[in-house]
Amino acid sequence: MTLDITGRVLRPGDDGFDDACTGYQLALPHRPDLVVAAAGTADVVAAVRHAAEHGLPVAVQATGHGRAAPIEGGVLIHTGAMDEVQVDPATRTAWVGAGTRWEKVVAAAARHGLAPPSGSSPHVGAVGYTLGGGLGLLARRRGYAADHVREFELVTADARVHRLTPGAELFRALLGGGGNFGVVTGMRIGLLPITRVYGGGLYFPASARVLAAWRDWTAGVPDELTSTVGMVPMPDLPMVPEPLRGRHVVHIRVVFEGDAETGERLVAPLRAAGPVLLDTLGVLPYTETGTISGDPPFAHAYTGRSAMLADLGPGDVDTVYELAGPDAAVPCVVQVRHLGGALARPSAAVIGHRDARYALHVLSALDDADPGKIAEAHRGLIEALHPMGTFLNFHYGPATDEQVRAAFAPDVYADLARLKARHDPDTRFHAGFTIPPAV
Ligand SMILES: Cc1cc2nc3c(=O)[nH]c(=O)nc-3n(C[C@H](O)[C@H](O)[C@H](O)COP(=O)(O)OP(=O)(O)OC[C@H]3O[C@@H](n4cnc5c(N)ncnc54)[C@H](O)[C@@H]3O)c2cc1C
Repeated sequence: MTLDITGRVLRPGDDGFDDACTGYQLALPHRPDLVVAAAGTADVVAAVRHAAEHGLPVAVQATGHGRAAPIEGGVLIHTGAMDEVQVDPATRTAWVGAGTRWEKVVAAAARHGLAPPSGSSPHVGAVGYTLGGGLGLLARRRGYAADHVREFELVTADARVHRLTPGAELFRALLGGGGNFGVVTGMRIGLLPITRVYGGGLYFPASARVLAAWRDWTAGVPDELTSTVGMVPMPDLPMVPEPLRGRHVVHIRVVFEGDAETGERLVAPLRAAGPVLLDTLGVLPYTETGTISGDPPFAHAYTGRSAMLADLGPGDVDTVYELAGPDAAVPCVVQVRHLGGALARPSAAVIGHRDARYALHVLSALDDADPGKIAEAHRGLIEALHPMGTFLNFHYGPATDEQVRAAFAPDVYADLARLKARHDPDTRFHAGFTIPPAV
């Protein structure tokens, strides 16, 4: 079986095959019959046509940060080499290839005094992130990344190439509908006139009191300020700053689109919330915002779940501390992001739960505990918080139909299922978070 492509075709045993099937997430690697390491749109078309002719399933992977479920057999289209970025300063947009990581877009945009709506980790793929909605560093002021997309290029299951712009049904479906409708080969996304922010992190010894102080503080901050609270068992490793090494910490991450003086005034109550172990707040170029969250840069095996929350009451804060803190049944990293502001405004995107005030996700490294115990602990936490639904970008690992459905408003989900029936009736695309075609 030969494929006429410019990129590479890899089969089990070939150099690079295993890396293409794992990437950042080492758990549940893809197990395709062949990997097409695509060099461009023509390769993607050839791979999808090949899959259609042979009745094979197709999965897409850029970096592996968000692989939900592995494909068994079939074709894995690896987009890592399609990592072009072209910034157009006149329209304040960038054309971003399917496999481009945010760090490359951030660097290219910064040369023109601009910044993309990127998230906590610069290593995440811009397209995969945006297809899942994309909850970024400045989200409360600027909305979801999906709200900034101007154009997609998409290869559908019939191997046709579509240029999609606002107004097209499929365009809208890609603004949060994930990889259900085809392979996005590139997107044009709006850039923001931002070069610097006031931000960084405050670390405290883990305590429910600091979590509660953050929650209370979020009630009074302007939309220009986006923040997250994390509770993290820090490893006892030399790469971890000494005051944090081996400690269970609460980590408050702040990004403020405003001047340092106002930023300092806004964070003053947080600094008083407890004994500060480390304070990294200050003015920093947007190109350094990837340091704020401190997401692990190395590949590992992890699993996690998400919850969109209508609110986070005092009892909920205690629940988070009890079920995901130092005394949790299994080691957990938990994050709660403050929503609202521009995130709450209606837009064309299909992302659900715009009225959620907080998004939580809990994750655990799979080598830290028995997977069954981890799943039970995560389920216990999520159920105790009575979520409105899910946010699939923060769901790490296989999802049930119910969890996928819970990411969308019911009428939106029904529209997406109808579009799935029209454009991918045989569920050729193994999207991980699969929306079944409407019958
Ligand atoms: C450390 C870390 C930090 C993160 N921070 C944030 C954050 O701040 N905000 C946020 O919203 N999310 C965040 N995420 C979640 C991340 O956005 C999702 O996991 C996203 O799916 C990753 O995309 P990827 O291309 O890097 O990953 P991949 O695993 O390569 O892709 C994930 C899925 O996206 C789909 N996909 C990817 N590319 C294409 C394509 N070209 N065409 C069609 N489908 C495609 C496929 O279904 C694929 O299975 C984070 C994840 C991690 C692990």
